[in-house]
Amino acid sequence: MATDPSADNTEADNSSSGGVVTCAVCLSDLSDDDNDNDNYNDSALGSLPRKAHLPCCFRPRASDAVCLPCMRTIINMTGTHIGRCPLCRSYVQFASGSSTSPEEGAQTAQLQTRLEKAVPHGRCAMCMQTPRIIVRGGICDACDLGVNNRLRYACTQCERIQVIPHPMWRYMETPTSASTVTWACHGECQTYTTWTVWADDVERIPPEDTPESWGRRERWLADVRAERERRRQEEERGEVEWFCTIA
Ligand SMILES: [Zn+2]
Ligand SMILES: [Zn+2]
Ligand SMILES: [Zn+2]
Ligand SMILES: [Zn+2]
Repeated sequence: MATDPSADNTEADNSSSGGVVTCAVCLSDLSDDDNDNDNYNDSALGSLPRKAHLPCCFRPRASDAVCLPCMRTIINMTGTHIGRCPLCRSYVQFASGSSTSPEEGAQTAQLQTRLEKAVPHGRCAMCMQTPRIIVRGGICDACDLGVNNRLRYACTQCERIQVIPHPMWRYMETPTSASTVTWACHGECQTYTTWTVWADDVERIPPEDTPESWGRRERWLADVRAERERRRQEEERGEVEWFCTIA
């Protein structure tokens, strides 16, 4: 099991004040500090990672928690400024810099620590739906995923293969079932039909975006752990700084 190396030499007195909380992603023990307004450095040695204050799932003393470094990794891995909560899959993002709290004023130049829910708020320039969560370039999360994951799908009527720039897998109960939502078939049907993912392309579906019923959460979390470990090693070699994805 990959654990944070700093977890070994902790001021382990946290356990005296209740059960030890571990991160659901990296499985590190987490700091008991439920307060979210001090400076925090991801790479600080000798201290436990802090809990991310997830707008959806954070509760003081809850046993389900995720650390801030893992949330940074999750968001960075999307290539956008929005990521999924590993506990409930809500969309979250780091709050943009307009904090008014005095405690936070001092850290505007520091890494951002405050997470907020990403609320659907705009019209997508591609699918024209509104309100949508706009992730970048004026397009919504679904279109962004679809454009970056142009998978092949088979029409359930005429069985023609067609590339669809939309995450049709979201509407499938299993990786092999037909979609519950339709898309225009340009094969024999020439009408809206349902689709299955072409078997060779199933592996290309981002595990964090698959429906809960697919049971791929563990695989996603394993990817995040591997990415954190890779970044930690790069940091040790002084090659990369943690960065925040907020523009
Ligand atoms: Zn973690
Ligand atoms: Zn959540
Ligand atoms: Zn869209
Ligand atoms: Zn068809």
